[in-house]
Amino acid sequence: MKYIIIGLGNFGASLAEKLTREGNEVIGVDNNMSKVEGMKEKIAHTIRMDATDQITVSGLPLRDTDVVIVAIGEDQGANIMATAVMKNLHVNRLISRAISPLHENVLQAIGVDEIVHPEEETAERWAKKLVLKGLVDSFALTGEYSIVELTVPEKYNGKSLGEIGFRRNYNIVVLTTIRKDEQKNLLGISRTITRVQGVASSETVLAEGDIMVIYGNNKDIKRLLDETS
Ligand code: ADP
Repeated sequence: MKYIIIGLGNFGASLAEKLTREGNEVIGVDNNMSKVEGMKEKIAHTIRMDATDQITVSGLPLRDTDVVIVAIGEDQGANIMATAVMKNLHVNRLISRAISPLHENVLQAIGVDEIVHPEEETAERWAKKLVLKGLVDSFALTGEYSIVELTVPEKYNGKSLGEIGFRRNYNIVVLTTIRKDEQKNLLGISRTITRVQGVASSETVLAEGDIMVIYGNNKDIKRLLDETS
């Protein structure tokens, strides 16, 4: 596949290298000469150019390019302008990087095909590194706070949330629990049904194997997982 990556900062440059290693043809664009020079040996082509200037940008081989990724982060104005230019030039697939919710709204209004959030995604991966026994899934709300799904361990079986005292003892809020039941259909074939049990209260009683959805600081979540695994 052929890619054009606009902005060879940390994210753009590492993405360009990764895509090249995977056998793709990547053109990297940046208006900073040292960024362009730094990537010259690592990807197929590098071009120094102001990506907000439509006339210059229209000189790129956009028709032959499968995906354009606007990877400019910090300078949201430049990101939005470069994205709008690419949209005007009807590129095949347009992906842009958002660094704030407002920025994301603007990109949606422009009509990009996909939005990436490398900051959040890195945080999410970090949160996943908390992976310990019992963790089902997680997503990071900020660098510090996550919502995590974990399997209820045996030691909580039959206990209520009030008894365990997640908030008191771990500074963690239990949002809801999900119960998995085996059900047989008319042909006798069993399948697992998941049921979300509504907003959790101190009376909610846990059963081993349920999924508990919790919210809290990553440090507190890690401590809970350490203690329950
Ligand atoms: P990161 O967080 O990934 O390092 P940055 O936002 O710091 O991302 O880097 C974005 C890159 O985009 C920088 O290398 C910068 O020179 C480049 N850039 C910024 N504005 C433009 C523009 N108008 N045209 C081309 N490249 C740009």
